[in-house]
Amino acid sequence: MRAFEATEYYFHQAADLLDLSRNIRALLITPKREVQVQVSIERDNGQVATFIGYRVQHDDARGPMKGGLRYHPDVDLDEVRSLAALMTWKTAVVEIPYGGAKGGINVNPREMSPRELQKITRTFVDQIHDLVGPDSDIPAPDMGTNAEVMAWFMNQYSKYHGFSPACVTGKPVELYGLPGREEATGRGVGIVTLKLLGRMGRKPHQTTVAIQGFGNVGSHTARFLHEADCRVVAVSDISGGYYRPEGLDVPDLIRYLHQNNYSLSGYPNAEPISNEQLLTLPVDVLIPAALGGVFDADLAREVRAKAIIEAANGPTWPEADRVFQQREILVFPDIVANAGGVTASYFEWVQNRQHYRWGRDRVRQELDRIMSESFERVWELATQRKVSLRTAAYILGIGRVGRATILGGSVT
Ligand code: GLU
Repeated sequence: MRAFEATEYYFHQAADLLDLSRNIRALLITPKREVQVQVSIERDNGQVATFIGYRVQHDDARGPMKGGLRYHPDVDLDEVRSLAALMTWKTAVVEIPYGGAKGGINVNPREMSPRELQKITRTFVDQIHDLVGPDSDIPAPDMGTNAEVMAWFMNQYSKYHGFSPACVTGKPVELYGLPGREEATGRGVGIVTLKLLGRMGRKPHQTTVAIQGFGNVGSHTARFLHEADCRVVAVSDISGGYYRPEGLDVPDLIRYLHQNNYSLSGYPNAEPISNEQLLTLPVDVLIPAALGGVFDADLAREVRAKAIIEAANGPTWPEADRVFQQREILVFPDIVANAGGVTASYFEWVQNRQHYRWGRDRVRQELDRIMSESFERVWELATQRKVSLRTAAYILGIGRVGRATILGGSVT
Protein backbone atom coordinates (compact mmCIF):
# COMPACT_ATOMS: atom_id res chain seq x y z
CA MET A 1 0.00 0.00 0.00
CA ARG A 2 1.21 3.48 -0.80
CA ALA A 3 1.00 6.52 1.47
CA PHE A 4 -1.86 8.16 -0.42
CA GLU A 5 -3.88 4.93 -0.41
CA ALA A 6 -3.59 4.88 3.38
CA THR A 7 -4.91 8.45 3.64
CA GLU A 8 -7.70 7.53 1.22
CA TYR A 9 -8.57 4.50 3.33
CA TYR A 10 -8.98 6.64 6.45
CA PHE A 11 -10.97 9.18 4.44
CA HIS A 12 -13.44 6.57 3.15
CA GLN A 13 -13.82 5.00 6.59
CA ALA A 14 -15.14 8.34 7.90
CA ALA A 15 -16.97 9.28 4.67
CA ASP A 16 -19.03 6.07 4.96
CA LEU A 17 -20.29 7.21 8.36
CA LEU A 18 -21.03 10.67 7.01
CA ASP A 19 -23.05 9.23 4.12
CA LEU A 20 -21.16 11.39 1.63
CA SER A 21 -22.29 11.05 -1.96
CA ARG A 22 -19.86 9.63 -4.53
CA ASN A 23 -19.60 13.00 -6.26
CA ILE A 24 -18.60 14.86 -3.15
CA ARG A 25 -16.18 12.10 -2.16
CA ALA A 26 -14.36 12.26 -5.47
CA LEU A 27 -14.24 16.02 -5.28
CA LEU A 28 -12.87 16.05 -1.75
CA ILE A 29 -10.23 13.40 -2.21
CA THR A 30 -8.84 14.52 -5.59
CA PRO A 31 -6.04 17.09 -5.29
CA LYS A 32 -6.78 20.41 -6.93
CA ARG A 33 -3.35 20.79 -8.47
CA GLU A 34 -0.06 18.89 -8.49
CA VAL A 35 3.18 20.33 -9.80
CA GLN A 36 6.52 18.71 -10.32
CA VAL A 37 9.52 20.87 -11.19
CA GLN A 38 13.18 20.48 -11.95
CA VAL A 39 15.52 21.93 -9.34
CA SER A 40 19.05 22.05 -10.75
CA ILE A 41 21.93 23.81 -9.05
CA GLU A 42 25.67 24.07 -9.44
CA ARG A 43 27.18 22.43 -6.37
CA ASP A 44 30.13 23.85 -4.43
CA ASN A 45 32.45 21.50 -6.35
CA GLY A 46 31.26 22.88 -9.70
CA GLN A 47 29.15 19.85 -10.65
CA VAL A 48 25.50 20.22 -11.58
CA ALA A 49 23.01 18.38 -9.36
CA THR A 50 19.36 17.90 -10.32
CA PHE A 51 16.53 17.26 -7.90
CA ILE A 52 12.76 17.03 -8.28
CA GLY A 53 10.55 19.48 -6.42
CA TYR A 54 6.84 18.95 -5.75
CA ARG A 55 3.91 21.01 -4.57
CA VAL A 56 0.52 19.40 -4.18
CA GLN A 57 -2.41 21.72 -3.52
CA HIS A 58 -5.11 19.49 -2.20
CA ASP A 59 -8.15 21.59 -1.32
CA ASP A 60 -8.99 25.28 -0.81
CA ALA A 61 -12.68 25.18 0.14
CA ARG A 62 -11.95 26.58 3.62
CA GLY A 63 -9.22 29.06 2.73
CA PRO A 64 -5.73 29.45 1.26
CA MET A 65 -3.88 26.16 1.12
CA LYS A 66 -1.30 25.55 3.83
CA GLY A 67 1.39 23.00 4.49
CA GLY A 68 5.06 22.33 4.96
CA LEU A 69 7.98 21.89 2.60
CA ARG A 70 9.97 18.70 3.17
CA TYR A 71 13.61 18.06 2.17
CA HIS A 72 14.26 14.34 2.32
CA PRO A 73 15.74 11.78 -0.11
CA ASP A 74 12.52 9.67 -0.03
CA VAL A 75 10.20 12.52 -1.06
CA ASP A 76 8.03 11.52 -4.03
CA LEU A 77 4.70 12.56 -5.49
CA ASP A 78 2.70 9.88 -3.67
CA GLU A 79 4.05 10.92 -0.28
CA VAL A 80 3.52 14.63 -0.91
CA ARG A 81 -0.01 13.94 -2.13
CA SER A 82 -0.83 12.02 1.02
CA LEU A 83 0.67 14.72 3.25
CA ALA A 84 -1.24 17.45 1.38
CA ALA A 85 -4.55 15.66 2.02
CA LEU A 86 -3.66 15.29 5.71
CA MET A 87 -3.21 19.09 5.84
CA THR A 88 -6.73 19.64 4.51
CA TRP A 89 -8.26 17.51 7.29
CA LYS A 90 -5.84 18.88 9.89
CA THR A 91 -6.65 22.56 9.33
CA ALA A 92 -10.36 21.70 9.29
CA VAL A 93 -10.35 19.65 12.47
CA VAL A 94 -8.66 22.43 14.48
CA GLU A 95 -10.84 25.01 12.68
CA ILE A 96 -8.26 27.36 11.24
CA PRO A 97 -9.27 29.01 7.96
CA TYR A 98 -7.02 27.14 5.57
CA GLY A 99 -7.07 24.39 3.01
CA GLY A 100 -4.29 21.84 2.62
CA ALA A 101 -1.08 21.58 0.59
CA LYS A 102 2.38 20.09 0.88
CA GLY A 103 5.68 20.33 -0.94
CA GLY A 104 9.00 18.63 -1.00
CA ILE A 105 12.30 18.13 -2.74
CA ASN A 106 14.01 14.73 -2.96
CA VAL A 107 17.28 15.97 -1.53
CA ASN A 108 19.23 14.86 1.53
CA PRO A 109 19.90 18.15 3.34
CA ARG A 110 22.62 16.49 5.45
CA GLU A 111 24.70 16.06 2.31
CA MET A 112 24.36 19.70 1.22
CA SER A 113 26.23 22.79 2.38
CA PRO A 114 24.15 25.77 3.59
CA ARG A 115 25.06 27.54 0.36
CA GLU A 116 23.78 24.64 -1.73
CA LEU A 117 20.57 24.42 0.30
CA GLN A 118 20.01 28.09 -0.24
CA LYS A 119 20.45 27.67 -4.01
CA ILE A 120 18.05 24.71 -4.02
CA THR A 121 15.43 26.72 -2.14
CA ARG A 122 15.75 29.79 -4.36
CA THR A 123 15.60 27.68 -7.54
CA PHE A 124 12.47 25.94 -6.26
CA VAL A 125 10.86 29.33 -5.56
CA ASP A 126 11.80 30.47 -9.08
CA GLN A 127 9.83 27.50 -10.40
CA ILE A 128 6.70 27.76 -8.27
CA HIS A 129 6.35 31.42 -7.17
CA ASP A 130 3.35 32.05 -9.42
CA LEU A 131 1.43 29.14 -7.88
CA VAL A 132 1.87 30.09 -4.22
CA GLY A 133 1.33 33.25 -2.18
CA PRO A 134 -0.20 34.67 1.03
CA ASP A 135 -3.75 34.29 -0.36
CA SER A 136 -3.35 31.02 -2.20
CA ASP A 137 -0.78 28.62 -0.75
CA ILE A 138 1.57 29.24 2.18
CA PRO A 139 4.50 26.84 2.79
CA ALA A 140 6.15 26.24 6.18
CA PRO A 141 8.91 24.08 7.68
CA ASP A 142 8.63 20.30 7.70
CA MET A 143 11.15 17.49 7.93
CA GLY A 144 14.57 18.67 6.72
CA THR A 145 13.65 22.36 6.53
CA ASN A 146 13.78 25.09 9.17
CA ALA A 147 13.41 28.82 9.78
CA GLU A 148 16.50 29.60 7.71
CA VAL A 149 15.03 27.87 4.65
CA MET A 150 11.80 29.85 5.16
CA ALA A 151 13.80 33.11 5.25
CA TRP A 152 15.41 32.26 1.88
CA PHE A 153 11.98 31.35 0.55
CA MET A 154 10.49 34.69 1.63
CA ASN A 155 13.43 36.64 0.26
CA GLN A 156 13.28 34.97 -3.15
CA TYR A 157 9.48 35.20 -3.38
CA SER A 158 9.63 38.92 -2.50
CA LYS A 159 11.96 39.52 -5.46
CA TYR A 160 9.07 38.61 -7.75
CA HIS A 161 6.09 39.89 -5.81
CA GLY A 162 7.39 42.68 -3.53
CA PHE A 163 7.46 42.66 0.27
CA SER A 164 5.51 39.53 1.29
CA PRO A 165 6.32 38.25 4.78
CA ALA A 166 3.05 36.26 4.85
CA CYS A 167 4.05 34.11 1.84
CA VAL A 168 5.61 31.54 4.17
CA THR A 169 5.46 30.78 7.92
CA GLY A 170 7.97 29.39 10.40
CA LYS A 171 10.39 32.22 9.63
CA PRO A 172 13.16 33.26 12.04
CA VAL A 173 11.78 35.32 14.94
CA GLU A 174 14.10 38.18 13.88
CA LEU A 175 12.63 38.13 10.37
CA TYR A 176 8.84 38.33 10.71
CA GLY A 177 8.68 34.99 12.52
CA LEU A 178 6.64 34.22 15.62
CA PRO A 179 8.04 33.57 19.09
CA GLY A 180 6.72 30.11 19.96
CA ARG A 181 6.30 28.78 16.39
CA GLU A 182 9.32 26.48 16.59
CA GLU A 183 8.18 24.73 19.78
CA ALA A 184 4.50 24.74 18.76
CA THR A 185 4.16 21.26 17.22
CA GLY A 186 5.91 19.59 20.16
CA ARG A 187 3.98 21.67 22.65
CA GLY A 188 0.69 20.70 20.99
CA VAL A 189 1.69 17.01 21.11
CA GLY A 190 2.45 17.46 24.81
CA ILE A 191 -0.91 19.10 25.49
CA VAL A 192 -2.94 16.35 23.86
CA THR A 193 -0.81 13.73 25.63
CA LEU A 194 -1.67 15.24 29.03
CA LYS A 195 -5.34 15.42 28.04
CA LEU A 196 -5.32 11.76 27.02
CA LEU A 197 -3.61 10.77 30.28
CA GLY A 198 -6.40 12.59 32.12
CA ARG A 199 -8.99 10.51 30.27
CA MET A 200 -7.04 7.34 31.02
CA GLY A 201 -7.02 8.26 34.72
CA ARG A 202 -3.22 8.47 34.91
CA LYS A 203 -1.13 11.13 36.60
CA PRO A 204 1.88 12.46 34.67
CA HIS A 205 4.36 11.36 37.35
CA GLN A 206 3.12 7.75 37.00
CA THR A 207 3.58 7.87 33.24
CA THR A 208 6.45 6.55 31.14
CA VAL A 209 6.98 7.87 27.62
CA ALA A 210 9.10 6.76 24.64
CA ILE A 211 9.65 9.11 21.70
CA GLN A 212 10.87 8.03 18.27
CA GLY A 213 12.68 10.95 16.62
CA PHE A 214 14.48 13.84 18.28
CA GLY A 215 14.18 16.59 15.70
CA ASN A 216 12.18 19.76 16.22
CA VAL A 217 8.96 17.91 17.11
CA GLY A 218 10.43 15.08 19.21
CA SER A 219 12.78 17.29 21.25
CA HIS A 220 10.12 19.90 22.09
CA THR A 221 7.64 17.14 22.98
CA ALA A 222 10.24 15.56 25.29
CA ARG A 223 10.97 18.87 26.97
CA PHE A 224 7.28 19.69 27.49
CA LEU A 225 6.41 16.27 28.93
CA HIS A 226 9.52 16.23 31.12
CA GLU A 227 8.54 19.64 32.53
CA ALA A 228 4.98 18.31 33.05
CA ASP A 229 6.46 15.57 35.29
CA CYS A 230 6.21 12.60 32.91
CA ARG A 231 9.08 10.12 32.86
CA VAL A 232 10.59 10.21 29.34
CA VAL A 233 12.47 6.89 29.39
CA ALA A 234 13.59 6.56 25.77
CA VAL A 235 14.23 8.69 22.70
CA SER A 236 15.88 8.01 19.35
CA ASP A 237 17.27 9.68 16.26
CA ILE A 238 18.99 8.30 13.16
CA SER A 239 21.99 7.29 15.30
CA GLY A 240 19.80 4.88 17.36
CA GLY A 241 17.80 4.77 20.60
CA TYR A 242 18.73 5.89 24.12
CA TYR A 243 17.04 4.30 27.13
CA ARG A 244 17.05 5.03 30.86
CA PRO A 245 14.28 3.26 32.82
CA GLU A 246 14.43 5.80 35.69
CA GLY A 247 13.82 8.60 33.19
CA LEU A 248 16.19 10.50 30.91
CA ASP A 249 17.58 13.88 31.91
CA VAL A 250 15.88 15.68 29.00
CA PRO A 251 17.59 19.09 29.42
CA ASP A 252 20.94 17.28 29.44
CA LEU A 253 19.93 15.37 26.29
CA ILE A 254 18.99 18.59 24.50
CA ARG A 255 22.26 20.27 25.55
CA TYR A 256 24.13 17.26 24.17
CA LEU A 257 22.18 17.46 20.91
CA HIS A 258 23.10 21.12 20.41
CA GLN A 259 26.77 20.55 21.23
CA ASN A 260 26.98 17.45 19.04
CA ASN A 261 25.91 18.84 15.67
CA TYR A 262 22.23 17.92 16.17
CA SER A 263 22.93 14.22 16.67
CA LEU A 264 22.47 12.07 19.80
CA SER A 265 25.26 9.76 18.62
CA GLY A 266 27.45 8.73 21.58
CA TYR A 267 25.11 10.16 24.27
CA PRO A 268 26.71 8.79 27.46
CA ASN A 269 23.97 8.94 30.10
CA ALA A 270 21.66 6.23 28.72
CA GLU A 271 21.70 2.66 27.48
CA PRO A 272 21.90 2.41 23.67
CA ILE A 273 18.95 0.48 22.17
CA SER A 274 17.71 -0.06 18.61
CA ASN A 275 14.85 1.81 17.02
CA GLU A 276 12.81 -1.43 16.99
CA GLN A 277 13.44 -1.93 20.72
CA LEU A 278 12.24 1.59 21.43
CA LEU A 279 8.98 1.00 19.58
CA THR A 280 8.23 -2.15 21.58
CA LEU A 281 9.18 -0.90 25.07
CA PRO A 282 6.60 -1.50 27.83
CA VAL A 283 5.76 2.20 28.27
CA ASP A 284 2.49 3.99 28.87
CA VAL A 285 2.78 6.36 25.93
CA LEU A 286 4.63 5.84 22.66
CA ILE A 287 5.16 8.88 20.43
CA PRO A 288 6.35 8.39 16.84
CA ALA A 289 7.81 11.78 15.88
CA ALA A 290 9.84 10.95 12.78
CA LEU A 291 8.94 9.62 9.33
CA GLY A 292 5.60 8.16 8.25
CA GLY A 293 4.84 4.47 7.70
CA VAL A 294 6.36 3.24 11.00
CA PHE A 295 3.73 0.73 12.16
CA ASP A 296 2.76 -2.26 10.03
CA ALA A 297 0.57 -5.10 11.33
CA ASP A 298 3.53 -7.17 12.59
CA LEU A 299 5.04 -4.33 14.58
CA ALA A 300 1.58 -3.32 15.85
CA ARG A 301 1.26 -6.80 17.44
CA GLU A 302 4.59 -6.26 19.26
CA VAL A 303 3.85 -2.78 20.61
CA ARG A 304 3.48 -2.81 24.39
CA ALA A 305 2.44 0.82 24.93
CA LYS A 306 -1.05 1.64 26.22
CA ALA A 307 -1.44 4.70 24.02
CA ILE A 308 0.16 6.11 20.87
CA ILE A 309 0.26 9.79 20.06
CA GLU A 310 1.01 10.38 16.39
CA ALA A 311 3.39 13.35 16.34
CA ALA A 312 4.62 12.30 12.88
CA ASN A 313 2.37 12.53 9.85
CA GLY A 314 1.04 9.12 8.73
CA PRO A 315 3.02 6.80 11.03
CA THR A 316 0.32 4.06 11.10
CA TRP A 317 -0.66 1.88 8.13
CA PRO A 318 -4.38 0.93 8.13
CA GLU A 319 -3.58 -2.75 8.84
CA ALA A 320 -1.70 -1.66 11.98
CA ASP A 321 -4.52 0.68 12.94
CA ARG A 322 -6.89 -2.32 12.94
CA VAL A 323 -4.50 -4.29 15.16
CA PHE A 324 -4.26 -1.39 17.60
CA GLN A 325 -8.05 -1.20 17.74
CA GLN A 326 -8.38 -4.95 18.38
CA ARG A 327 -5.74 -4.72 21.11
CA GLU A 328 -7.45 -1.63 22.59
CA ILE A 329 -4.35 0.49 22.29
CA LEU A 330 -5.51 4.10 22.07
CA VAL A 331 -4.19 5.96 19.02
CA PHE A 332 -4.48 9.71 19.03
CA PRO A 333 -4.29 10.66 15.32
CA ASP A 334 -1.73 12.83 13.53
CA ILE A 335 -4.24 15.30 12.09
CA VAL A 336 -4.99 16.59 15.59
CA ALA A 337 -1.92 15.52 17.58
CA ASN A 338 0.57 17.48 15.47
CA ALA A 339 -1.72 20.36 14.49
CA GLY A 340 0.04 22.76 16.91
CA GLY A 341 2.57 23.67 14.22
CA VAL A 342 0.10 24.79 11.61
CA THR A 343 -1.97 26.52 14.30
CA ALA A 344 1.01 28.66 15.31
CA SER A 345 1.69 29.19 11.59
CA TYR A 346 -1.79 30.64 11.35
CA PHE A 347 -0.98 33.10 14.17
CA GLU A 348 2.24 34.08 12.36
CA TRP A 349 0.42 34.63 9.06
CA VAL A 350 -2.31 36.74 10.69
CA GLN A 351 0.29 38.90 12.41
CA ASN A 352 2.37 39.33 9.26
CA ARG A 353 -0.72 40.64 7.54
CA GLN A 354 -1.58 42.98 10.42
CA HIS A 355 2.02 44.09 11.02
CA TYR A 356 1.38 43.38 14.67
CA ARG A 357 3.26 41.04 16.95
CA TRP A 358 2.10 38.85 19.84
CA GLY A 359 4.45 37.80 22.65
CA ARG A 360 5.26 34.16 23.43
CA ASP A 361 2.76 34.01 26.32
CA ARG A 362 -0.18 34.91 24.12
CA VAL A 363 0.94 32.46 21.44
CA ARG A 364 1.09 29.68 24.05
CA GLN A 365 -2.25 30.62 25.55
CA GLU A 366 -4.09 30.61 22.20
CA LEU A 367 -2.32 27.45 21.06
CA ASP A 368 -3.15 25.62 24.30
CA ARG A 369 -6.79 26.63 23.95
CA ILE A 370 -7.15 25.43 20.36
CA MET A 371 -5.34 22.14 21.05
CA SER A 372 -7.38 21.44 24.19
CA GLU A 373 -10.70 22.24 22.55
CA SER A 374 -9.82 20.12 19.52
CA PHE A 375 -8.91 17.21 21.77
CA GLU A 376 -12.24 17.47 23.60
CA ARG A 377 -14.30 17.57 20.41
CA VAL A 378 -12.56 14.55 18.95
CA TRP A 379 -12.86 12.62 22.21
CA GLU A 380 -16.56 13.44 22.59
CA LEU A 381 -17.41 12.47 19.03
CA ALA A 382 -15.47 9.21 19.30
CA THR A 383 -17.36 8.34 22.49
CA GLN A 384 -20.73 9.41 21.11
CA ARG A 385 -20.42 7.53 17.81
CA LYS A 386 -18.38 4.64 19.22
CA VAL A 387 -15.64 5.06 16.63
CA SER A 388 -11.87 5.33 16.90
CA LEU A 389 -10.29 8.69 17.68
CA ARG A 390 -8.92 8.76 14.13
CA THR A 391 -12.31 8.20 12.55
CA ALA A 392 -13.82 10.87 14.81
CA ALA A 393 -11.13 13.36 13.76
CA TYR A 394 -11.73 12.58 10.08
CA ILE A 395 -15.50 12.91 10.51
CA LEU A 396 -15.00 16.39 11.97
CA GLY A 397 -12.48 17.44 9.32
CA ILE A 398 -14.28 16.00 6.30
CA GLY A 399 -17.64 17.31 7.53
CA ARG A 400 -16.32 20.87 7.69
CA VAL A 401 -14.59 20.75 4.31
CA GLY A 402 -17.70 19.15 2.79
CA ARG A 403 -19.98 21.85 4.19
CA ALA A 404 -17.67 24.65 3.01
CA THR A 405 -17.61 23.10 -0.47
CA ILE A 406 -21.41 22.90 -0.63
CA LEU A 407 -21.86 26.40 0.84
CA GLY A 408 -19.48 27.73 -1.83
CA GLY A 409 -22.15 26.65 -4.25
CA SER A 410 -20.21 24.83 -6.95
CA VAL A 411 -21.71 21.46 -5.95
CA THR A 412 -24.90 20.34 -4.26
N1 GLU B 1 4.74 20.85 8.39
C1 GLU B 1 3.84 21.05 9.46
C2 GLU B 1 2.69 20.05 9.39
O1 GLU B 1 2.82 18.99 8.84
C3 GLU B 1 3.41 22.48 9.59
C4 GLU B 1 2.66 23.06 8.43
C5 GLU B 1 2.41 24.56 8.53
O2 GLU B 1 2.80 25.16 9.53
O3 GLU B 1 1.86 25.08 7.57
O4 GLU B 1 1.64 20.25 9.94
